[in-house]
Amino acid sequence: MKTKPAKVNIIGAGLAGCEAAYQLSKRGVAVVLYEMKPEKMSPAHHEASFAEIVCSNSMKSEDMGTASGALKAELDILDCLTLRIARETRVAAGSALAVDRKLFSARMTEEIKKLANVEIVSREVTHIDTEVPTIIATGPLTSDGLSQEIASLLGDKSLYFFDASAPIVEASSIDMSKAFTSGRYGKGESDYINCPMDRDEYYAFVRELKSAERVPLKDFENTAVFEGCMPVEVMASRGDDTLRFGPLRPVGLVDANGKRPFAVVQLRRENTESELWGIVGFQTNLTFGEQKRVFSMIPALSNAEFVKYGVMHRNTYINSPKHLNADFSMKAHPFVFFAGQIAGVEGYVESIASGLLCGINMARKLEGKPSFVPDTTTIVGGLMHHISSATENFQPMNANFGILQPLDEIIRDKSQKKLAYSKRAVDNITKQKGEQLNQDV
Ligand SMILES: Cc1cc2nc3c(=O)[nH]c(=O)nc-3n(C[C@H](O)[C@H](O)[C@H](O)COP(=O)(O)OP(=O)(O)OC[C@H]3O[C@@H](n4cnc5c(N)ncnc54)[C@H](O)[C@@H]3O)c2cc1C
Repeated sequence: MKTKPAKVNIIGAGLAGCEAAYQLSKRGVAVVLYEMKPEKMSPAHHEASFAEIVCSNSMKSEDMGTASGALKAELDILDCLTLRIARETRVAAGSALAVDRKLFSARMTEEIKKLANVEIVSREVTHIDTEVPTIIATGPLTSDGLSQEIASLLGDKSLYFFDASAPIVEASSIDMSKAFTSGRYGKGESDYINCPMDRDEYYAFVRELKSAERVPLKDFENTAVFEGCMPVEVMASRGDDTLRFGPLRPVGLVDANGKRPFAVVQLRRENTESELWGIVGFQTNLTFGEQKRVFSMIPALSNAEFVKYGVMHRNTYINSPKHLNADFSMKAHPFVFFAGQIAGVEGYVESIASGLLCGINMARKLEGKPSFVPDTTTIVGGLMHHISSATENFQPMNANFGILQPLDEIIRDKSQKKLAYSKRAVDNITKQKGEQLNQDV
């Protein structure tokens, strides 16, 4: 590193960058915060202010029976500025934390500008000096100039510009009495869970898939990319039998009765613990409600818990498991961190969480202290584990209970089980903060 005690460059004053700046500042670390607005705006940003909320004004539920509620509780314990401002500027939305977006962003800008040791520089950054401690928090719409620089920093094809992902379900919610595991032609490992459908089930499913409601594309989203990874509903609309000769092909598969099913939906592991399973070939642009309705017509998935719905949208993110440690720092450049959506977390609060953890861990690293990486009984720990160890087909991840270690006890009641996950997460983040961050501010 060039300087010590160092100034930290943070690139991007979005949700993650602002929270990282606050965490560093309160630990006495000087920050230079670079933001390209208002000179240059991404296609979704329209305001000059920091921490702009680009779409829905909801930061999701605060209910402790949800993973996003548990994540917020963990962030409160870790002293999250952004959530404090969100609550101060909230609008009525039941159990969801929804904000007055203009007020929220204005208050965030005010708070960040007030921090004594944070210098703000208004310009686009297109070069990263890996010798200077840096947090890259430029979000899903990182500018083209910086994208090229990041691509060469990663040194391979590890920077993605589009997210076309299939829904992911929780293992315990798959009805295994209506599914079977086996390799095709009886060969290979039983790496897939096969969900068979008979003729009537298949054609009813295709009918609903074709007519289900889709998410409209944004102007800046390139339709050519959609052609490159065809959504399952588009495939269905090309012919009633297209899917059963495509991703639902039953060839080489036999069920427990030794019969070949009419069609088979396959599920593949999404994490090494086998808690999460993705639906193979089901990239989709259906609305979330329609995904739940139509995909629940697959008999083995009739009660499936969807921890993540499929999305098809512009999204700049890196192949994090290849390049990042669990504390969000680069394996090749220990003082360069990635925070927010670009690091492979998905969502407003998840981006805030990663900014908070980058801020804490950059400060600790500069002092020669070990990183703070909570275990996977906590949601933040689960996200950190995901971005550094997910399986080959890395997809950005939101907060959900499937990324956590299973509970020690078996709880049949779904609501009680979720509350137990949340309680354990909150207890353990409190404990681990006490043990590891005691000497910090
Ligand atoms: C269109 C769209 C809609 C979304 N809707 C939702 C939603 O409804 N709910 C949800 O939970 N999540 C949503 N997301 C995903 C994600 O949660 C948000 O994008 C979130 O704002 C990500 O936070 P961030 O801090 O990583 O990036 P951002 O909040 O986007 O902040 C990045 C900042 O970096 C700046 N920047 C970029 N490049 C440079 C550069 N080279 N130099 C200097 N500054 C730069 C940008 O101007 C911006 O201010 C959406 C994403 C997109 C693209």
